[in-house]
This record gives sequence, C-alpha cells and structure tokens, in this order.
Amino acid sequence: MRFQPGQFISLKHPFDGKEMTRAYSLASPPDGNRFALCLNLVPNGHFSHYLFELAPGSAIEMTEPLGYFTLRNPQRDALFIATGTGIAPFRSMLLHHLEHSQQKITLLFGCRYPYSVLYREELVELAGTHPNFTLIETVTRPEQGWLGRTGRVQSHLDEALAGRTDVDVYICGLKEMVDEVRALLKQRGFDRKQIIYEKYD
Ligand SMILES: Cc1cc2nc3c(=O)[nH]c(=O)nc-3n(C[C@H](O)[C@H](O)[C@H](O)COP(=O)(O)OP(=O)(O)OC[C@H]3O[C@@H](n4cnc5c(N)ncnc54)[C@H](O)[C@@H]3O)c2cc1C
Repeated sequence: MRFQPGQFISLKHPFDGKEMTRAYSLASPPDGNRFALCLNLVPNGHFSHYLFELAPGSAIEMTEPLGYFTLRNPQRDALFIATGTGIAPFRSMLLHHLEHSQQKITLLFGCRYPYSVLYREELVELAGTHPNFTLIETVTRPEQGWLGRTGRVQSHLDEALAGRTDVDVYICGLKEMVDEVRALLKQRGFDRKQIIYEKYD
C-alpha cells in the first residue's frame, strides 16, 4: 500500500442497513501492506465503539489512502501542532522524514493527562536521537508528580515558534483547537499558505 505520510484512509461499515464512513489518519510510516491507526474511543461515538470492539481477524472495508495533509516544503522548517489522536499523521511524518531530512521540526503536542500522552517514549527517544527534532509536550490535567508544561497548546505557541514566522505550521486535531491556533498564527503575521491543517470533526 503506497501513501504519503500524513494521509488517511476511510473505513466503512453498515449500521442498520446504512453505510457509515469515518476517516482515520495513518499513524505509521509507509511499510508495505502494514499500517497502524491511532484511535480514540469517543463517548457515545458510533464508529469508534464499533472499532474498539472488533476482534482480531475481523475484516473491514477501507478506501485507498487519501488527503493532502502531507509535508509541503521539505526545505522549510516546520512546526507540528497536535492534540490527542491528532498526533497520528505527525507520527507517520516524523518516523519517515526524520530518517531522510535535516529539516528542523518542532512538535507541540497537547493531551489531557500525563498518561495519555500518546507515543511519549518514542517521541522522547526521537528528540534525543535527532538534534533537528524538538518535542514540546503539555497536559491540561496534570497529576501529582508532573513537572512538565501545563495548559492548552495555544498557550505554548510562542515558545514553539521561538520568534520565527518563516516556518510552515501544520495543525491536526479537533476543530476548536485548529481554528484557535489558526487565528493566533494570523495575528502573528503568518500567511494562509504557511498554515496547513486537518480537522477531525
Ligand atoms: C481526515 C480525518 C482523519 C481522522 N483521523 C482520526 C484518527 O487518526 N484517530 C481518531 O480517533 N479519529 C480520527 N478522525 C475522527 C474519526 O473520523 C471519527 O470522527 C471518530 O472516530 C468519531 O466517530 P464516531 O462515529 O465514534 O463518533 P461521532 O458520533 O461521529 O462523533 C462524535 C464527536 O466526537 C468528536 N471526535 C471525533 N474524533 C475525535 C477524536 N479522535 N478524539 C476526540 N473526539 C473526537 C467530534 O467532536 C465529533 O463531533 C479523523 C477524522 C478526519 C476527518
């Protein structure tokens, strides 16, 4: 299966005779016919509950990889901003591109709890082994013992930008966060073309 890191597939399943389709970003780099997804169990969500209940060996219909949320300018430094499962396309991009490129990439990643920082060990290791990759993580509901950043990604945007306006910014997550970050970037003088985003809802 060929795809560009950052693309998604759509899964399909009939419920009560009506076909339902939901998109899911590919969370792994291209690797033949193997791929990983990163799924959130949405309270009262129809499709995500169905996926969480699938038994090993089950089959489900999917589309080919789709979408344009891919790295546009490999020569330009980039800031990735994700919340929750919005990390999925960035994981695919990081694991693929950090191997081949010297482009500077900063990931600003927000989750609810320290234990829900997805792929934390892997991301920390990537930051330790790739001097061109910086990880900035923040949680909105810190628990005792958490010494890292707290609050939403929006409040760490300036730290992540470090005064630069010459980077491309990629944003992935729920609409509310994506729209707020886009507005903050426009206030800071970013051009529309520098802001690339994927909304999950
Ligand atoms: C391009 C694209 C890529 C996507 N990639 C992923 C992915 O990699 N992983 C993933 O879990 N979901 C992803 N989604 C969301 C996914 O398609 C479904 O919307 C999600 O699984 C909820 O479907 P549902 O039928 O369970 O709930 P629904 O009844 O359809 O949704 C209920 C509400 O859940 C919220 N919601 C949707 N997705 C999430 C989420 N991931 N985390 C928290 N709240 C959410 C929205 O506010 C939505 O209105 C993606 C969506 C798009 C458009």
